[in-house]
Amino acid sequence: MKEMATETMISAVAERLERNGFQVHKVVGVNRTILGAIGDKRTVDIREFEILDGVHEVIRITEPYKLSSRTFHPEQTVVRVKEASFGDEQITVIAGPCSVESEEQLFTIAKEVKNAGAKVLRGGAFKPRTSPYSFQGLGKEGLKLLKAAGEEFKMATVSEVMENAQIELLVDNVDILQIGARNMQNFSLLREVGKLKKPVLLKRGMAATIEELLMAAEYLMSGGNYQVILCERGIRTFENYTRNTLDISAIPVTKKLSHLPIIADPSHGTGIRDKVAPMARAAVAAGADGLAIEVHHDPDRALSDGAQSLYPNQFSRLMEELRMIAWAIGKKI
Ligand code: PEP
Ligand code: MN
Repeated sequence: MKEMATETMISAVAERLERNGFQVHKVVGVNRTILGAIGDKRTVDIREFEILDGVHEVIRITEPYKLSSRTFHPEQTVVRVKEASFGDEQITVIAGPCSVESEEQLFTIAKEVKNAGAKVLRGGAFKPRTSPYSFQGLGKEGLKLLKAAGEEFKMATVSEVMENAQIELLVDNVDILQIGARNMQNFSLLREVGKLKKPVLLKRGMAATIEELLMAAEYLMSGGNYQVILCERGIRTFENYTRNTLDISAIPVTKKLSHLPIIADPSHGTGIRDKVAPMARAAVAAGADGLAIEVHHDPDRALSDGAQSLYPNQFSRLMEELRMIAWAIGKKI
């Protein structure tokens, strides 16, 4: 819509689109409002819309992902959660253990990562494990501990939701719902989480293309949940020295294709402790809006992912290095 378009003009166009069978998504930007119309373009002549009062231009979005594309929404999206923000000049670091194991474990780690500058506390309570015999997470009890630690240390929290039946529990206890790599194309989960008004951390599937990641985001957004943070967490390649291959190039590629913030997870992306810091530095230099990093005070005894968890002192050293890189590219931590 034109900058001077009035509310009446905007609703008239939206109503007309709806009458033509389109689903309308309204984005109110700083300077102008954009109406995203999802539907079958063959049913209308777009010139009819171009001449309506207040319309600036009608653009056809040729990408298969619409609401997540930068063509539709040129302005960068900023997802704000408590003190944290993803998508602005602030680089936001999510840190914490892979799994919540006990109150003592979580509170010890939370204190360390908070002091080092992390804004969001992570901790899995429902764990997607390759083996059914591995630790599966503390479930509800783990979420209660995460909530308590978030309150104690004034941090926002994130934890994974693995299935629809867990959604309510997650909504009540955490600030950001994580959809894990293994569930990136769980369409029924995406649809249900898409009905919420709650930020989502959507992790790239281990064999998913960037387009598939954006299509997964589209499921969330088409349901009305626009607060999506993308996460590059490594993909499976022929290389097996590392657990996964962290696709750093996915960061600038996604930035160009989409307005959604993107962060990197160098912990799952490499699977090896001493590879985490170099890849975290690289991700920030490449333009990531944030990082997700696993930290454990006693990784040898961790119930999951100890081998890729940083010691607290390694994490705080990394944060110092990241601050310098952020400064060099006009951002801050
Ligand atoms: C996690 O972050 O705890 C996790 C299991 O990650 P991913 O889904 O990327 O494997
Ligand atoms: Mn993990």
